[in-house]
Amino acid sequence: METLKIAIQKSGRLSEKSLTLLERCGIRLTNGDRKLIAVSSNFPIEVIYLRDDDIPQCIADNTVDIGIVGEDVILEQSFNFKIALKLGFAKCRLSLAIPKNLPYSGLAFFQGRKIATSYPNILKSWLAQQNIQAQIVPCKGSVEITPSIGMADAIFDIVSSGSTLISNGLREVETVCRSQAILVQSENLSNDKVEILDDLVFRISSILRAENNKYVVLNAPNNKIESIIKLIPGIKSPTVVPLSDPDWSAIHSVISDDDFWSVVQSLRDSGAQGILVIPVDKMII
Ligand code: ATP
Ligand code: MG
Repeated sequence: METLKIAIQKSGRLSEKSLTLLERCGIRLTNGDRKLIAVSSNFPIEVIYLRDDDIPQCIADNTVDIGIVGEDVILEQSFNFKIALKLGFAKCRLSLAIPKNLPYSGLAFFQGRKIATSYPNILKSWLAQQNIQAQIVPCKGSVEITPSIGMADAIFDIVSSGSTLISNGLREVETVCRSQAILVQSENLSNDKVEILDDLVFRISSILRAENNKYVVLNAPNNKIESIIKLIPGIKSPTVVPLSDPDWSAIHSVISDDDFWSVVQSLRDSGAQGILVIPVDKMII
């Protein structure tokens, strides 16, 4: 059988999470985690560690088959890969920010201004769409300090919590796009490789789904079971098992993180007691 080559970031924000994900898929990598190439002893995969900017080109020219990279990098380099899976980490947005003491009344602010960014292509096409003429100042790093040193009037950069902007006296005024880590694939995969990728995607999906759900166990008086199980339908339906007290039962189910606290509140209001919440490792449906 063939081996699927996956590129992951050598060192940076995506590295640790990408490796952990493979590990949680049960993939054992042999030669450490900071070599250039690692092979697996129990899954037909080979890991190639690269700078994130180099990953798209390597996929495009089939040096590697798949890769984990930020959507922002793919967008900036104008590749149009098939996304095998969105991975839900390294979530951020690309935004325009201006010095916080300047008044902002809309996009016209940027007309004729200098905007520093390490994403010149994304910015260029967005400005064109908005019909704004501005000067793009390409900048590899420390974009957030450019307004204070007079290099630019505004910046276009990654924002997650916004604390870097605040500490540099900037405020976010427009969100242009969002990004997260994605698993992308080459167009020319052999049938064997597609099969390996399908297996990998299946494993990762079961982990992502698990991360978004909690296992709950609770006690309920028997006359409340019917209303409680409506609140937590679970995967197929909840498990109801009798307690040694004949008037009470235990109910087991899963709750999505999205509405976790409101469901817990409704469970309590409906008479549930002794609610235990347990993390789920894998969820296969
Ligand atoms: P390399 O040395 O591999 O070129 P880099 O410095 O270009 O690394 P990182 O800073 O490690 O890249 O960021 C990798 C990806 O993580 C980015 O492309 C983006 O998708 C995401 N990212 C960057 N900054 C943040 C942030 N503050 N919050 C969340 N995600 C982020
Ligand atoms: Mg990079």
